[in-house]
Amino acid sequence: MAFAQDTRPVSIVDVSPRDGLQNEKTPVSTEDKVRLIEELVRMGAKRIEAVSFVNPKAVPQMADADAVMAAVPRTGDVSYIGLVLNTRGAHRAVDAGMDEMNYVLPVTDAFATANQNTTVAAALNTLEEVSAIASSASIPLSVTAAVAFGCPYQGDVPIEQTLDVVRNAMSLANLAEMALADTIGCAVPWQVGETFAKLREETDLQLRAHLHETRHTALANTYAAMAAGVDVFDSSVGGLGGCPFAPGAAGNSSTEDLVWMLERAGFPTGIDTQIATELGRWICALVGTNPRSGLAGAGPFPAGA
Ligand code: ZN
Repeated sequence: MAFAQDTRPVSIVDVSPRDGLQNEKTPVSTEDKVRLIEELVRMGAKRIEAVSFVNPKAVPQMADADAVMAAVPRTGDVSYIGLVLNTRGAHRAVDAGMDEMNYVLPVTDAFATANQNTTVAAALNTLEEVSAIASSASIPLSVTAAVAFGCPYQGDVPIEQTLDVVRNAMSLANLAEMALADTIGCAVPWQVGETFAKLREETDLQLRAHLHETRHTALANTYAAMAAGVDVFDSSVGGLGGCPFAPGAAGNSSTEDLVWMLERAGFPTGIDTQIATELGRWICALVGTNPRSGLAGAGPFPAGA
């Protein structure tokens, strides 16, 4: 049964190994991170944000990024994304053989200071340098505009503020994709729809949404983003995730709920919800938390789907 009129394929970027784990205090071994990634491949993920190349003092959970990447399966049809915040990280991403880089660009100075000790203007300069590194290594680069819908330090973020920063990014860098992130899960669907619709009018670039479920608006925001032309979404199994520098941030969209909703409506994703649900239970147990996912509690509908 397909409820949607337009059933274009929607693709998922599973961010469990990076956004999912980075905020967890319980150290996860390199071996378990590799196992998580292997299982995500089995689940059907074609793009996986596997690691971040950041200062290990700031984010201890990501200290073994190079070792994780040396051990993951390279099947050829799975693209591994490395998150970078600066040129040092970009060089590490090249050395680790990442298939893609994702650069985090805060849209407020307050978050830029807290997250990566910089300003928006300086982060745009860094983006230009990161873009040159990625281009010379022939690695596709995407940008994720952080706190695009609200900032834990500035508060409200006007749509024009986000779009100004995004326009600058698109003019300075050679990008394969532009993402807007609801880093702390404070966005509402009308805001998400309007922002992406305006951005869609200005660019043909592939658009991606990174939505957190902190206040239970992520799936509604997904619907609004899709209506505005977005067809790539970040999620994590079990809804794991948060940001160490964003107070109150909790939980990505859970891969299993997101995929269930999309497939139920008729949008193919290529992802197995049962594996996603089991994997969410496993990784959440490993870090001592409960899955934030409807499917983990209620199961799919119809039963066995
Ligand atoms: Zn996030």
